[in-house]
Amino acid sequence: MRPLQPGRVSAARALVLALVALALGQGAATAAQGPGNGVGSIGADASMALLVGPPALVPSGDPASPEFIGPPLMPNFAILGQEVLPGARARLEWSASQSFAGAEVISPVIVVHGLRPGPVLCLTAGIHGDELNGVEIVRRVVHGVDPTQLSGTLIGVPIVNLFGFSRGSRYLPDRRDLNRFFPGTRVGSIASRIAHSFFHSVATRCDALVDFHTGSFDRSNLPQVRADLRSPQVMAFARRFGDTPVLHSAGSKGMLRVAATQVGIPAVTFESGAPSLLQVPEIEDSVDSIESLLYEMGMTPVAPERGEPQAVFYDSRWIRADSGGLLISAVALGDRVQRGQTLGVVVDPINNVERQIVSPIDGRVIGMARNQVVLPGFASYHVGEEKSADAAVKDAARNAQGALEEEYSERPPEGNGDGLSGEEDPEDMPH
Ligand SMILES: [Zn+2]
Repeated sequence: MRPLQPGRVSAARALVLALVALALGQGAATAAQGPGNGVGSIGADASMALLVGPPALVPSGDPASPEFIGPPLMPNFAILGQEVLPGARARLEWSASQSFAGAEVISPVIVVHGLRPGPVLCLTAGIHGDELNGVEIVRRVVHGVDPTQLSGTLIGVPIVNLFGFSRGSRYLPDRRDLNRFFPGTRVGSIASRIAHSFFHSVATRCDALVDFHTGSFDRSNLPQVRADLRSPQVMAFARRFGDTPVLHSAGSKGMLRVAATQVGIPAVTFESGAPSLLQVPEIEDSVDSIESLLYEMGMTPVAPERGEPQAVFYDSRWIRADSGGLLISAVALGDRVQRGQTLGVVVDPINNVERQIVSPIDGRVIGMARNQVVLPGFASYHVGEEKSADAAVKDAARNAQGALEEEYSERPPEGNGDGLSGEEDPEDMPH
């Protein structure tokens, strides 16, 4: 039976009654129609439904309740030239570029379309092709949601930059950073065209968007939301990620979240872990956070078991190594630290000198470098101080740019505007 809109039920019944009356008037047809032809026929076959029998299915109960009886109330979800039925999960395809390197590159787009009305939430990952945690987070979320229990629509794109992903690279093949080109242009560079295609065929279909990233170049981030808290819309969205830390960050021109927010789609970056690794604890924490988000947005009916924790806002600063050598950490991601506490040491292996890096504040380690060789000035620990939501909004108004990302000094020798930071372009960052 074809799903009917509620408003069409009575019209269809009127049509049936009229046809039945017509048939009776002609003294025909009724004898040929058994009562069994009744219920299921209204819909696509309405014109043939010359019948008597039980009445058609009439919606009853609260449409928002799981006990609702009746035809699906949701229209199909149209995207990428396809239609997804209510209560279904579909794997669609987005073609980044038909002519790049002479080959078509297809990225999967998973659409989970609920039975009940609600927002369209998009989860994107792999804009930087070497950032793997997000790929797995998006996969787990979109395949973990039951479409028959979902209100609204969930769109997951696990690997936006399939070019980079297939080569284990952050960049597009031309060394451009795709996350500097949104919303893109139809006739610009390859990066700009890919950005334009994705933005207009997928991103603009979303009511809200989460873009997954990791730290970069041997740095790892505690799962955290980065959002432009100057926008009340974005602020309201950022509060819904359970107790995941939220940092104000204005972002840089060309980032997907910035371009989306500019066209009225609240969007945030979700940082989780380090590049080129699959980190199960970070992935599990991040999936929990998105499950909280789905519940808070009214898209899933059951609250996550861990309850409904409050959002936690952080002010943050990078703490640098003052000397060069081997960085060896004494703390772990997520640790709470006190002012004066040793975060790690930098060892000069030639002169056998050891220098401590101490925390200037009480706070929490929300990002840190892995043990490695560092130069003086290397941003080693990202320490956040908790503050209230109100204070976070006020600080965002005062310090527009917000959370600093990483370094100027670590640009690649042939840098082309692509920073070495996780999400942001360090060129745009004040220091
Ligand atoms: Zn990234």
